[in-house]
Amino acid sequence: MTPIRERYHNEHGLIAQCCRCHMVRRPEDPTTWDEVPAFLSDPPDELTHGLCPTCFHEAYPELAARYDAWAATRIAPALVLP
Ligand SMILES: [Zn+2]
Repeated sequence: MTPIRERYHNEHGLIAQCCRCHMVRRPEDPTTWDEVPAFLSDPPDELTHGLCPTCFHEAYPELAARYDAWAATRIAPALVLP
């Protein structure tokens, strides 16, 4: 396994890739997606697919608006005091 693949493995040993634009999600910061050209030419077996936030908003604008309204009511974990 190459280091670049190790970087993108989540806690389940999977790599999350957007099925639309092929960006790959960073496990340590799930809001950040990176372009990894190596995964297009040599996709790893442990690849799983979803939609990145940009593609989600472009492909499903009405659902994305509902999600954004719901997410705005949530308290960010970083803002919760111990
Ligand atoms: Zn995408």
